[in-house]
Amino acid sequence: MAPMGDGRFDFDLFTLGAGSGGVASSRRSGAYGARVAICEDSRVGGTCVIRGCVPKKILVYGSHFAHDFSDAPAFGWTQAEHSLDWATLIQAKNREIDRLNGVYLRLLRDSGVTLIEGRGKIVDPHTVEVAGKRYTAEHILVATGGRPQKPPIVGADLGITSNEALDLPKLPKHVVVVGGGYIGVEFAGIFRAAGAKVTMLIRGDTVLRGFDADIRAALTSELRKSGIDVRCETFVADVERRGDGRSVLTQSGETIECDVVLFATGRVPNTENLGLEEVGVSIDKNRAIAVDAYSRTNVSSIFAVGDCTNRINLTPVAIAEGRAVAETLFRNSPTAIDHEGVPSAVFSQPPVATVGLSEERARREHGDLDVYVTNFRPLKHTITGREERTMMKLVVARESRRVLGVHMVGADAPEIVQGFAVALKCGATKEQFDKTVGIHPSAAEEFVTMRDKRPDAVHGVGAPGAR
Ligand code: NDP
Repeated sequence: MAPMGDGRFDFDLFTLGAGSGGVASSRRSGAYGARVAICEDSRVGGTCVIRGCVPKKILVYGSHFAHDFSDAPAFGWTQAEHSLDWATLIQAKNREIDRLNGVYLRLLRDSGVTLIEGRGKIVDPHTVEVAGKRYTAEHILVATGGRPQKPPIVGADLGITSNEALDLPKLPKHVVVVGGGYIGVEFAGIFRAAGAKVTMLIRGDTVLRGFDADIRAALTSELRKSGIDVRCETFVADVERRGDGRSVLTQSGETIECDVVLFATGRVPNTENLGLEEVGVSIDKNRAIAVDAYSRTNVSSIFAVGDCTNRINLTPVAIAEGRAVAETLFRNSPTAIDHEGVPSAVFSQPPVATVGLSEERARREHGDLDVYVTNFRPLKHTITGREERTMMKLVVARESRRVLGVHMVGADAPEIVQGFAVALKCGATKEQFDKTVGIHPSAAEEFVTMRDKRPDAVHGVGAPGAR
């Protein structure tokens, strides 16, 4: 363990990047008495707070009112005039981002962390340069995140990414979304609910590659029911300008005229121009920083956490990895992160949430399974007549009876699945689920009342997933 504050270095820890992982690690290290500096060349808060999870969720809330307005008359409400002022929604979102940015700045200050504005570059295993000034540190933590990537096609520069999609000055009339991952389905839902026409171009048969096949099929169907034109096996050839709008040409020769093309085609780690290769830090073929279970790189004084390591690219994972580094370095408690059983949610409309293994992966890793699936129209929509359905699935190891996967598409799925993630962490069996009393009437109770196994011959639907 490093002696803290022995004066050999300016700082005990120097962190590059003030996003979720970098801030969490720096604050925790500061709380343990370490002298910490953090540098950032954009706004403190990182992707999640400034241009990701938080602003996205505000737009999901804002746009989803459209569903409530159209459902309300069935419950007796008089249909009132309603329209969305997009600029007001964006302003409300920006105010909250500004507030959170201020909170992050305060929290760093209160933890005694020195904030240095500018882009950091590692000069040697104990030195970082920011804006022409050099700082030495016993340990360096790289937490520089990732960024959206566009495919290498002609006219890609005419499309936007999620960064710009969060700040469009007005609601487009027609958006073409390229890609059907987390970001693609979330933004398709926002724009559709807000009133835009949405065309989604995906390479496979269903959205959300990597998720359970039944979930993928169910969400693809729900997106279509909500009015999103999901076009499968469709590859973009190029994008051209058409006045103020855009024209998308597919490889099969179709053209689609629209206002905005959103590329939601994955993200890449921010690992360039940081001096990593020069000091000998290993970078993998996906441009991610290679680390061990303690987030240590092959250069022993340099650690890395979060999306720049491309392990599980989720904010809570980056935070856990960052805090673990603080435990390892400054509390004499080497801490590895358990990347198993991490729940995740997709804030599509309706949302998806999942924890554990897809049926396909569980079958590969655990052999015989019992699978329980339910698909129903939620009580609310028996009144409204809305066609939206909820789908829930349990994947159970036949021999041990352990529940290996919990999956859901439907209202409140993220709120419901979080609790079941605890049960899976505890190794809950199907019988323990069955012994649990449900909360009635709720959708969640279905997870503890599913009795009928799906016949063995049926192995999911849709394309095989790889999660
Ligand atoms: P994903 O990796 O989830 O999805 C990328 C999508 O783009 C896939 O549909 C993929 O198709 C498609 N694609 C990739 N390359 C091309 C190409 N050249 N041409 C056409 N289509 C292409 O990436 P996202 O950008 O949606 O999100 C990045 C990550 O950010 C997520 O994996 C997740 O870790 C995180 N995230 C998490 C959120 C949450 O927790 N709610 C929200 C947003 C992001 P194919 O399937 O055929 O490969």
